[in-house]
Amino acid sequence: MKTSSPRWWYWLAWLLAFAILAVTVRMALEHALSAHDRLEADVQAVIERHQLTYIGDLSNQVFHRKDCPLAASIPKRFQVMFYLRRAALEMRFTPCHHCRP
Ligand SMILES: [Zn+2]
Repeated sequence: MKTSSPRWWYWLAWLLAFAILAVTVRMALEHALSAHDRLEADVQAVIERHQLTYIGDLSNQVFHRKDCPLAASIPKRFQVMFYLRRAALEMRFTPCHHCRP
C-alpha cells in the first residue's frame, strides 16, 4: 500500500538545492571575474613599470622604444603600439637603429 508521501518536501528540497547551487555559482563567477580584473591590473602595472611598450611607424615599418626621440617625431596617424617586441617583429617591423628595442 502506497503511503501518502509528502511530495512537497521533495520539491522544497530540490528548490533549496538549486538555490544554494545558484548562489554558489554566482559567488564563484564573481570571484573569478574580480581575480581576472586584478590580474589585468597587475599586467598593466608591469607593462608601465618596465615601459614594455613599443611605438611602430607604419610609414617605414620601424619600431622604437617608448622613450626614443625618433618615436616622438612619428605623426599620430602612422603610430601603432606594440606591447610585445615579438608582436612587432611578427608584423615585419624592423627595430630602430637608434634605440635598439
Ligand atoms: Zn628608435
